[in-house]
Amino acid sequence: MTISNNIKQVTAEIEEFRSKYKISHPVNLLAVSKTKPYESVMEAYNAGQRRFGENYAQEGCEKIERANAEHIPDIEWFFIGPIQSNKTKMIAEHFDWVLSCDRSKIVTRLNEQRPFHKGKLKVCIQVNISEEEQKSGVYTESEIMDLAAFIAKQPNLEFRGLMAIALNTSEPATLKDEFTRMNILYQKLKSIYPTVDTLSIGMTADMEIAVECGSNLVRIGTRIFGARNYNK
Ligand SMILES: *Cc1c(COP(=O)(O)O)cnc(C)c1O
Repeated sequence: MTISNNIKQVTAEIEEFRSKYKISHPVNLLAVSKTKPYESVMEAYNAGQRRFGENYAQEGCEKIERANAEHIPDIEWFFIGPIQSNKTKMIAEHFDWVLSCDRSKIVTRLNEQRPFHKGKLKVCIQVNISEEEQKSGVYTESEIMDLAAFIAKQPNLEFRGLMAIALNTSEPATLKDEFTRMNILYQKLKSIYPTVDTLSIGMTADMEIAVECGSNLVRIGTRIFGARNYNK
């Protein structure tokens, strides 16, 4: 299967789920290109894909610099990985979005390091819905509300919503509970902050339930680019 065909299939499937669950809002596709070469990103780009997600700061910034050097227009770059504080500058200087904000220290640094000419950095809070210790993200509602208020105060950031990664072994019923909780939190934030418009849940394995539960930005890697090899 080619990347271009995969994108067509995933896009068609998203539309199928939208009509199956009578979802009226658009559901956007974020192509997760971590560990994949620049050429694969360009293959997806040539098939019409414009939103790309990267997990590793260095790798992502290299792809972004190359795309900029080649004057490739209209790409939106999303940082979706765990954030170490020594990488915030690189992230703030290159990316358009950060979906994986999980603590105030990172928020402060991203705000300070965002270059003015790039405009506001769009930011989502990562929620640790599955409450796994090794996964980043905030969990309790009060922590989420506090971090949201903190992000909304930053002049160089724009608070846009929530992102979460479900447990990949979850039963459909558990997934549905977790995603439903996310949607409730998202609706609550949306009623407080007019800039909030993003609920990013759903990956290759759980896209259907995520769309059913109100996702408007699914993050798909494997299904588009094939399995990842981390030992290269
Ligand atoms: C890798 C990754 C994805 C994509 O996962 P697939 O299962 O390959 O679709 C989505 N979101 C995040 C945060 C990821 O790290």
